[in-house]
Amino acid sequence: MNVLDGRAMAADMAGSLAARTATLRESGIVPRLAVVASGAEPAVESYVRMLERGAKRVGVNCATVWLPATTDARALGRVLDELSADPVVHGVLLQTPLPAGIAPAAVAAHLSPDKDVDGLNPLSAGRLQVGQPGFVPATAAAIMEILRRAGAPLTGAEAVVVGRSLVVGRPVAHLLLQADATVTICHSRTRSLAEVCRRADVLVVAAGRAGLIGPDAVRPGAIVVDAGTNATGGGLAGDVDFEAVAPVAGAITPVPGGVGPVTTMALLRQTVDAAARGVAVG
Ligand code: NAP
Repeated sequence: MNVLDGRAMAADMAGSLAARTATLRESGIVPRLAVVASGAEPAVESYVRMLERGAKRVGVNCATVWLPATTDARALGRVLDELSADPVVHGVLLQTPLPAGIAPAAVAAHLSPDKDVDGLNPLSAGRLQVGQPGFVPATAAAIMEILRRAGAPLTGAEAVVVGRSLVVGRPVAHLLLQADATVTICHSRTRSLAEVCRRADVLVVAAGRAGLIGPDAVRPGAIVVDAGTNATGGGLAGDVDFEAVAPVAGAITPVPGGVGPVTTMALLRQTVDAAARGVAVG
């Protein structure tokens, strides 16, 4: 069994990104990411601070707009419109959770598709579905990056994705399909979850249920990528029972230290891509 070290992968990605941003700076371009966050949840604050630190490390200028938890959809839409129109901003991240009562779908269209570095705009999702270039949700991009670095053969492979959310499950299923895997998507109504998962050469889990996947759901030698992040009494835990599954899997991501750090770098990479595209166009 091989533990897929997301921190080491992220460090390597950071090195490449720093080199790219240094080159962009020589042409007078400083990649800039605007984060829009709301409320004062400690978990969100610490995530945003971590993102800001990661951005600094790779030479991306990252500024966060903190909105009051009482912000309504119109006001949030206006902030996104302004950032979308601001020529010095290359990427805009709308951090969840949104203020109470606002569904992401109600405001996502305010993110310019050219700056939608977390793939939230329905146009970005549509582009992914029809196979056109565009931004994809950073977690889905990170999962594909991990599989690439793990050397996972995807052509013709059985890939099972647990979770069908717009931010992880569905986009990663599309990316796996584009990579010519045979893809099955599971969700809360799936019958015999363990049995379906056992078919997988590549098992991607994003359900938000600590310990959902045990060794009975893993084919010996399978590559297991766990996007779950669940706060438990014992700290952060994934959706996969790591201790029990690791001896069965061929390779597995830990939580923490797996998908999370790679997601941060995937988001920053898409921001640098957006900035670089600006250079090519301008
Ligand atoms: P979500 O929107 O709540 O979606 C969860 C999905 O899992 C749903 O499709 C749900 O099915 C399915 N599901 C729930 N319980 C299940 C069960 N018992 N059996 C099978 N499927 C089940 O969550 P999300 O935003 O995709 O996030 C999933 C996890 O990934 C969370 O732990 C989240 O914190 C984590 N996450 C991590 C990152 C990162 O960068 N590492 C980024 C985003 C999210 P239904 O559709 O039928 O309800």
